[in-house]
Amino acid sequence: MAQSCKNYINGRWETGVTTGISSNPSDLDEVVAEYARADGNQAEVAIRAAADAAPAWGLSTPQRRADALDQIGSEILARKDELGQLLAREEGKTLPEAIGEAARAGNIFKFFAGEALRAAGEHLPSVRPGVEVDITREPVGVVGIIAPWNFPLAIPAWKIAPALAYGNSVVFKPAELVPACAAALAEIISRAGLPAGVFNLVMGSGRQVGQAMVDSPLVDAISFTGSVGTGEQILKATAARRAKVQLEMGGKNPLVVLADADLDQAVECAVQGSFFSTGQRCTASSRIIVDATVHDRFVTKLRQRTLALKVGHAMERGIDIGPVVDRAQLDTNLSYLEIARSEGAEHVAGGELLERATRGHFMAPALFLAQPQHRIAREEVFGPVACVLKADGFDHAVALANDTPFGLCAGVVTQSLKLSTQFKRQAKVGMVMVNLPTAGVDYHVPFGGRKGSSHGPREQGRYAAEFYTTVKTAYTLA
Ligand code: NAD
Repeated sequence: MAQSCKNYINGRWETGVTTGISSNPSDLDEVVAEYARADGNQAEVAIRAAADAAPAWGLSTPQRRADALDQIGSEILARKDELGQLLAREEGKTLPEAIGEAARAGNIFKFFAGEALRAAGEHLPSVRPGVEVDITREPVGVVGIIAPWNFPLAIPAWKIAPALAYGNSVVFKPAELVPACAAALAEIISRAGLPAGVFNLVMGSGRQVGQAMVDSPLVDAISFTGSVGTGEQILKATAARRAKVQLEMGGKNPLVVLADADLDQAVECAVQGSFFSTGQRCTASSRIIVDATVHDRFVTKLRQRTLALKVGHAMERGIDIGPVVDRAQLDTNLSYLEIARSEGAEHVAGGELLERATRGHFMAPALFLAQPQHRIAREEVFGPVACVLKADGFDHAVALANDTPFGLCAGVVTQSLKLSTQFKRQAKVGMVMVNLPTAGVDYHVPFGGRKGSSHGPREQGRYAAEFYTTVKTAYTLA
């Protein structure tokens, strides 16, 4: 049955200006949610409520913030199976992946409950006699959170939890494809005893709700995760009014397979990193760079493993890959298959549309052999589409890995400590994985990249304090 989801503004559940729906990408005949769509004016009401609530919340005790976050985290963890089912129905990742994401969201709130209590400063003597210096961190104020659809619980959690932990008020705008996940999270947050206005959920389009947040002088900081194009627009708008901004955008992440790699391990890293979660992860490895001496053997093994992957309804047991999230993303994926063929990339496996018992966006994971200049080797597809590039030794593999405008993460598969250490040093990315898939990260350590992938301070772990606080230096003549 379709859920009815409202906006949460100034402590009340509000209808929107219009109504939207989200549907199940595994079963297009199922409506998952009917949701209240706000416009720019309703977003302004939420922003005003957040601004009014910010000063008192900024002075609340760390204990109060820790208790609220701990309660939210505990409830998410207790309900992870149910939340995972909702996520699998609305976004289409497989049920085990979806339950894992719900658990991650719960753990993130628990982590930042602890961080609220650990907000430390520095005290040091001045260079002037009799003067002491204190360095403290204060909340930024109102934080606007703009999220994508691909991790509809975890990404909002890793932005909302630190924002609240460090004493900021929040206006949260989820992606339009996943309102039910956002509303479920908001419902849990709404029962954590936060004062009215401290947390607000406003659903609607990026052009109206998102833009209102980006442009409002009452929003002190914007944390955005999404596509490069939207991120660049937000960067310009926030720079013009000097608001703090953090952008996590796309990736074209390399997985390097060196000559000494355990090829079974390498294939597993490639398959998981490239195709799991239907390739719809910013950390997906879509460029698999393989040493020429093992290239053909690796491709044969990877082809076999790719062809054996089970694609189907996200809730079905034993499925490896769920559907593509919507028609627009499916069309993008299919257009890249055409581009790859027309540019001369060699098709190895997959790419067909698949029929299943229910009507859904099912696509077989696709693999190509490509050249570095091919668009399929340079542009983010954000679907189950990967390509293999041939490298002539370690240095060439590293050069290919770094030959991209993106810099989120990179993986290497090798048995050599020396080469893995060199790769960790030389990869121009924010995160490196050795003998692991590029996708799949911990929740208690920094997340983010370089170059076109990210802008601003890192997210997650205690590094999140950099974005969600501002530093004050105080001098006292004692
Ligand atoms: P998107 O840019 O289309 O949308 C992201 C969010 O921005 C949505 O909530 C959308 O409504 C909003 N938005 C759109 N236009 C806006 C505007 N003018 N002003 C303000 N907000 C606006 O991205 P998407 O399709 O939802 O997500 C897919 C993209 O996200 C991929 O490129 C992927 O790589 C990226 N992503 C990056 C990370 C990361 O951490 N690096 C993580 C997940 C996804």
